[in-house]
Amino acid sequence: MTNPDSQTPTWRIAVIGSGPSAFYAAQFALNQKDVDVRLDMFERLPVPFGLVRLGVAPDHQVVKRVVNIYNKVAAAPGFRYFGNVELGRDLQIEDLERRYDQIIYAFGCSKSSNIGLPGEELAGVHGAAEMVGWYNGHPDFRGERYGLSEVEHAVVIGNGNVALDVARVLLQPPERLAPSDISDAALEELRRSSIREVSMLGRRGPAQAAYSAKELEEVDEVDEVELVVSKQEATPDPKSAAWLEEHGSRGKQRSVRYLKTCSEREPDQHSRKFRCRFLLSPVAFLGSERVEAVRVEQMEIYEDDAGVLRSRSTGTTQDIPCQMVLLSVGYRGDPLPGVPYNERNGAVPNVDGRVQHEPGGDVRAGHFAVGWSKRGPSGIIGTNMADSRATVMCMMEDRRSGSGLNPSSDQDTAELLRERGAEVVTWADWLRLDAWEVAEGKKRGKLRQKLETVEEMMRVIRELRDAEADS
Ligand code: NAP
Repeated sequence: MTNPDSQTPTWRIAVIGSGPSAFYAAQFALNQKDVDVRLDMFERLPVPFGLVRLGVAPDHQVVKRVVNIYNKVAAAPGFRYFGNVELGRDLQIEDLERRYDQIIYAFGCSKSSNIGLPGEELAGVHGAAEMVGWYNGHPDFRGERYGLSEVEHAVVIGNGNVALDVARVLLQPPERLAPSDISDAALEELRRSSIREVSMLGRRGPAQAAYSAKELEEVDEVDEVELVVSKQEATPDPKSAAWLEEHGSRGKQRSVRYLKTCSEREPDQHSRKFRCRFLLSPVAFLGSERVEAVRVEQMEIYEDDAGVLRSRSTGTTQDIPCQMVLLSVGYRGDPLPGVPYNERNGAVPNVDGRVQHEPGGDVRAGHFAVGWSKRGPSGIIGTNMADSRATVMCMMEDRRSGSGLNPSSDQDTAELLRERGAEVVTWADWLRLDAWEVAEGKKRGKLRQKLETVEEMMRVIRELRDAEADS
């Protein structure tokens, strides 16, 4: 299609989701020359930024500064934001296929994976992703209750960076979090917490842990928190040690050295303990109504026929008493109506970002995926820069070769949504709400007072619109 005013071809793109991968894809698409890019971004919640707002820990505010880049993207001509618009409720995929040349899925993964073990349904067993959403004021997890006043020892299953985030938030003095943008309800519950110890369990050894060295050290650096690890568990088995020396990244080597140092120092009696455990894999959660212990089997590292180091059970088990378990074994995406879904990783099946009808099936022309919708739940915010760019390259290639959707409707999506009675949040609305949250936060000595329900967000947005119209 060509823009009648300029004879420049128009490239109409719909993006589903508004997190980092969505914004990087928008940035690269909007930067293309010789084409008039019209990019509409759709977000289920009124507020943008996905995991930057709702996933990054409240004591990691520096990371959140990345939104300065996204704000510039949103200011570009050709960008429109449609907040409070849900695919399957307000819009169907067919509506988008009739109006856009290409569609990008960037809705990510927002729930914890479960591991299907006996006792997982016991009270006190929770997903880490849900806790992350809870302390970040995610409307979906507002009602979560953890009963932290009854918990002295919490066990986190898995040792990725999310496990470290929840351990750090649970262990640090709550007053350190008070000036951040943490949810008020979470802060109140953390103030009542009786937690003295968090144990983080990895099913493999310290040389195979999923966390980053910097994030591991950060927990130990928090005042009144001490990383505790036994000499035995901090020491990689001989095969892992040899692998680490020859092939291990600098980060892996650094984290193993750090654990060794921690294992050699005198324990401090006063601090809350962050206990790193290795080669322990959960087999059941025990308790009558509430969880009372995690049964774990002892693992060992072995080299398989292909020379890969793996872990296997030694056949012995032990029970670790606790009053709360957090499953931090990765995230999972929910399927969206009309969008192909890969059960294996909870993402959209794709080859290099080109969506397939089903995993391993034919490519669905005109449909693309970025971020966790593309890769599954792995990688940090920065990973999305190159990854979204690669998908946009494929989109350009397909556009040039004429492969894509054949939009048939001249009706603007904004008009369609008006007809359907959807109450769309525009970028100008978000900027008003953003300023309001920051101002409300300032009154309370916080960086931001987040609104935590869609109803409250919409009420304040309406009031701010009206106030602006009256002035
Ligand atoms: P992750 O890094 O994939 O870690 C998942 C952990 O769960 C691993 O330790 C894994 O062990 C374990 N696990 C999986 N299935 C298990 C099972 N059945 N039983 C026991 N353990 C099991 O996932 P994540 O921590 O959710 O993080 C997701 C992504 O976000 C990562 O790329 C992470 O780096 C990123 N992130 C970054 C930051 C940051 O930079 N500050 C913060 C948060 C998240 P195995 O390794 O043995 O499979």
